[in-house]
Amino acid sequence: SPIPDYLLEVLESCAQDRSGELADYIPELASADADRHALALGTTDGVSYSAGDAEAQFTIQSVSKPFVYALAIDDIGLEAVRARVGVEPSGEAFNELSLEGGTGRPLNPMINAGAIATHQLVSTEGCEPLDDGAPERLARTESVRARTGRVLAGLSAFAGRELHIDYSVAESEFEESYRNRAIANMLRTHDIIGGEPTEAVRGYIDQCAVLVTVRDLALMAATLAGGGVHPVTGTQVVSAAAARQTLSVMATCGMYDGSGRWLARIGIPAKSGVSGAIIGVLPGQVGIASFAPRLDSEGNSVQGVEMFERLSQDMGLHLMSAE
Ligand code: GLU
Repeated sequence: SPIPDYLLEVLESCAQDRSGELADYIPELASADADRHALALGTTDGVSYSAGDAEAQFTIQSVSKPFVYALAIDDIGLEAVRARVGVEPSGEAFNELSLEGGTGRPLNPMINAGAIATHQLVSTEGCEPLDDGAPERLARTESVRARTGRVLAGLSAFAGRELHIDYSVAESEFEESYRNRAIANMLRTHDIIGGEPTEAVRGYIDQCAVLVTVRDLALMAATLAGGGVHPVTGTQVVSAAAARQTLSVMATCGMYDGSGRWLARIGIPAKSGVSGAIIGVLPGQVGIASFAPRLDSEGNSVQGVEMFERLSQDMGLHLMSAE
């Protein structure tokens, strides 16, 4: 197949652009190797391709948000999720301290306020606390570990293999997580979440520290593309309705405050994260994942955006295109 050569060519031509900065608010991310990069595709019928450092592991960060949103929808139902987390683009930075006037809901599940709330909505019924040697630290209580266990199992089902948490990244983020704690306190004030706000932040940050490769992310994206069915394992990971809802929100809110421009230029529902990953989903067809750590001022991977732009143009992937 000519596809692997094509992916490698795209990867290498985009690697020329060394602009952008590593995320530095999480000390462990600031020291990551900025020159690692990879690109992968997974089709809904189970064929996958990759190029570059396809085995390199990095933390999933915000790319976890759409998947956990889909899990929450299946656990408690769309209406119950919608009562607590909206679906409107915010046009603000991902970590903005903002809630919808009147309802107090976070605007959408892709900003931190919405993602912290969504993490708390996942059901822990029948879940044992995660027993993976997690350091016993502040706020990592049994109920936190039960929820993290459920989230980790869900993300693993999306990937089709057992994933793990990088607790050194999680510790490093939690220590400095004053802003996310402020967001969680605000959510607690409005009764969007219950319990101890710090526990919600702890669980959410452990969720962000799940280690993945581009290959995992391409399969996770392909699972959303395939109406919730994993292309290789055949497992129905989430319902088709949850997958559709998630892709709709990704299309309008997935690329931080660059979401509108992304949809117009590239035309694929997507989600990016501060470790430098981007996933894109073409419904019914393919999941795409890129990894390149340097970020632009909106927090999106510079080379990742370029790779997606190339793929969208060369392969005619723009969803709004009539051709
Ligand atoms: N753990 C990060 C945070 O909440 C995720 C941010 C991201 O990838 O956008 O700040």
